Amino acid sequence: MSHDILAPFFTSLQNLPSVNLRRAQLIKKLLGLTETGVEVRILDFLFFFPESSVDRRLSPALNQLCTGKMVTVQVTIGDHVPPRIKRQPYRVHCHDNVGCVDLIFFGVSRTYLKRLLPSGETRFISGRVAEFNGSFQISHPDYIVESLTDLPLVEPVYPLTAGLKNPTLIGLYKEALACLPTLPEWQDKELLRKKNWPDINLALQIIHRPETPEDILPSSAARQRLAYDEFLANQLTHIRMNHRTGRSFKITGQITEAIYASLPFPLTGSQKRAINEIKADLTASSRMVRLLQGDVGSGKTIVAFLAMAMVVEADCQAAMMVPTDLLAQQHFRTLAPFCKQNGINCALLTGRQKHGERKQILKELASGTIHIIIGTHALFQEDVSFSDLGLAVVDEEHRFGVHQRSALREKGQYAADLLIMTATPIPRTLMLSHFSYMKSSRLTEKPAGHKPVDTRIIPLEQIDKVILRLRHAIERGMKAYWVCPLVKESVKSDITSTETRYKSLRSSLGSCVGFAHGRMSGKEKVMNDFIKGALSVLVTTTIIEVGIDVPEATIIVIEHAERFGLAQLHQLRGRVGRSDAQSTCLLLYKIPIDEIPARRLRILRESNDGFYIAEEDLRLRGAGDLLGIRQSGTSGFRLVCPDTHGELQQLADGDARKQIDLDPDFSGSRGQRLRLLFRLFEREGSVRIKTTKRT
Ligand code: ADP
Ligand code: MG
Repeated sequence: MSHDILAPFFTSLQNLPSVNLRRAQLIKKLLGLTETGVEVRILDFLFFFPESSVDRRLSPALNQLCTGKMVTVQVTIGDHVPPRIKRQPYRVHCHDNVGCVDLIFFGVSRTYLKRLLPSGETRFISGRVAEFNGSFQISHPDYIVESLTDLPLVEPVYPLTAGLKNPTLIGLYKEALACLPTLPEWQDKELLRKKNWPDINLALQIIHRPETPEDILPSSAARQRLAYDEFLANQLTHIRMNHRTGRSFKITGQITEAIYASLPFPLTGSQKRAINEIKADLTASSRMVRLLQGDVGSGKTIVAFLAMAMVVEADCQAAMMVPTDLLAQQHFRTLAPFCKQNGINCALLTGRQKHGERKQILKELASGTIHIIIGTHALFQEDVSFSDLGLAVVDEEHRFGVHQRSALREKGQYAADLLIMTATPIPRTLMLSHFSYMKSSRLTEKPAGHKPVDTRIIPLEQIDKVILRLRHAIERGMKAYWVCPLVKESVKSDITSTETRYKSLRSSLGSCVGFAHGRMSGKEKVMNDFIKGALSVLVTTTIIEVGIDVPEATIIVIEHAERFGLAQLHQLRGRVGRSDAQSTCLLLYKIPIDEIPARRLRILRESNDGFYIAEEDLRLRGAGDLLGIRQSGTSGFRLVCPDTHGELQQLADGDARKQIDLDPDFSGSRGQRLRLLFRLFEREGSVRIKTTKRT
């Protein structure tokens, strides 16, 4: 079964005929997705539900009207009566066989109304009835249509955001629903029958095109079905992660002791603690699934490296997967010397390598000559196989793209123990709902001597002063990042695109200014020039956000800081403060600034503590897409309402256990279909585990 069947769910909302960039951005705002560089997908849109509904089904004859009621009536249009004096409304008489009603308008163009309501024709009118001087009227009807098919008799009401009207949204949902693929049913048919639950497409259809107001309530069959889907995905993930038995690695200490001795710095207390926790897991007979949470700059890489070295001591291989080429190269550069000193054969695998080189690496991986491999999603390809992979480390897992993540899940040959690293600290509530199947280690200290970054908030108007200070700094040999918002997202003309900024900085600071953005070829060379010192200022988009480590860089300027999310700003700031020199972060913002972005900047100025910042972030915007999970609310679920759906969890748990006993590899027919469910709900860490080829 091809998993591409789900592709329509994961395509950008902009693929809908009526969604242009502007609308996509309004919708992104509506959905509460604040991060730059994140696109709204059809899935996100469909999983965003109406909050209430308007019932327009009451359809009385005109002699049966009642004040205050929302009605839909079929009328014949009569005379138009324009106002005789100002302040009087424009009036359109309407009637049916038994009664009459007036439509009332203020400040609407006459020609428009003449066109909208041609005398003598019939129309369906929907709106609220009022009484005035003994006769009934409807002022500014919500709908005036020729055919009932254009009128939602039960109208779903979405939360509003400026620039998006409810009827527009209804139309967009119609388009989104129309492009859904027919999916095979992964739920037990008997359960569906007993509960009277619809299939998933119908469920989404019912919620966005309800026939009764009850359809959109959490208690409806459609909502319950979807909640059950989410619970089941969740429970299966949890059980599956803990189900595997692992292996007990015979860690000798030979290599790791030598590495300890050669480290240029003492490990921090929490690094030591994490390493011991990992060692205990690796030695134990159960499979390790551990999350290593460490604030930016807390030194996760070395912890991962020691974990990998332990596995190599036990004669197994280790793989480290990172989201970008840049990061893979950086890790390789950092670790290669340690490996060399200690007889570990370490290699790099990215999507960029030449065919011959790649072939050679694959051969050595399969034969076991390579002990540690560092790579991007190139590691997930079908043709990559290991001699004996003992440990897979995933760095910054949430930064992997949707497709890479699912490849990681679906194709992964990782029967191995698993260490997942994240620099976005996960608040406890999310930990419970999403990661309860993982153990977690936290790096809570900064390496000794690393000073907190001095963070300043500065209006963009003072940019000249900032540039002047920057000039002094680079004259004293300092290195700086200058971050601009994503070029592609710059709809408004007032955003300085990265390139323009680069040009202007280059003209004021000279040839020591370099420029790199995500889609640019040759960004690695620019990065290298920055590391080696040929460049002092690196103008860039958020590509540096992920894990880049250039300890000599001590200044970061973030332009339009008000446009970034809190977690993202903290990540960006984490690029500096990586040595014992004092670092500075300048957050440039545009006036006027809204309350929430202003608060984000203040939080950042006041704290360097990623755990605190993550909790604040959660408070400011709900769980949002803190982890790229994109769920809303703080429960960690996207569709489940814990209050209403709570009891379904137990049912799902029983179902999940039975399923895993029956078909632990998800290779049976229901198992295959359940894989679609996993992907649809993007369960974190549900890395696909193949049990074959294990010795
Ligand atoms: P992150 O947790 O953000 O991935 P890194 O692993 O990149 O952090 O480490 C940040 C920097 O701190 C690196 O330059 C690394 O060499 C250095 N470092 C790591 N551990 C220590 C330590 N115990 N003492 C001093 N420096 C350290
Ligand atoms: Mg890192």
